Amino acid sequence: MKVRIEATADRQFRTNSYLVEDEDTRDAVVIDANLEPQLMIELAHKRNANVKAILLTHTDVDHVGGIGALLDAFGSIPVAVHETERHVVAEGRPLRREFGASTHPIENVVNLVEGETFRAGSLAFDVLHTPGHSPGGVTLKIGDNLFTGDALFAGSIGRSDFANSNGQALLDGINSKLLSQPDELTVYSGHGPATTIGQERRTNPFLN
Ligand SMILES: [Zn+2]
Repeated sequence: MKVRIEATADRQFRTNSYLVEDEDTRDAVVIDANLEPQLMIELAHKRNANVKAILLTHTDVDHVGGIGALLDAFGSIPVAVHETERHVVAEGRPLRREFGASTHPIENVVNLVEGETFRAGSLAFDVLHTPGHSPGGVTLKIGDNLFTGDALFAGSIGRSDFANSNGQALLDGINSKLLSQPDELTVYSGHGPATTIGQERRTNPFLN
């Protein structure tokens, strides 16, 4: 399978949404729903992508705020999220007591389960639970690509100063689930540019 990955970023938070598409079948998913969903809708149309699901690395408002518009555009496709943050999208309850609610309740919510494969059309993602920034943070792996959300960035790691964050869990997850991956794997983060596992292993100041 040949996977094509393209990102869109909103201007307010520079949060990345990714279109991940199987170039043979045109089946695709969107990973995270930033605050400018129109950019993703246009990209998916331009690519002739058949978007089968929305996958969430976690449910901070800047990663889920565009869900409603994406569902309007792509139909009532499943929204996949780790069970510990399911209430945020299924019930429209806030993830953080520091912030308000992110979305209206969404009906078609399915679970991302650590160690299990999530399938959407011809695409299959391994689910790695990487909590700490938030309780239900996950990394999604397909081929040589990792979508790490706000756990790991190029040169940085996610914030863990929120009430439901856990800095030790964040580091433990990065070490056990991400730095255990081969150096050549590409890391697509929730914010900022792509990097590789090897680059972060060698140079990320938060991991040494
Ligand atoms: Zn974020």
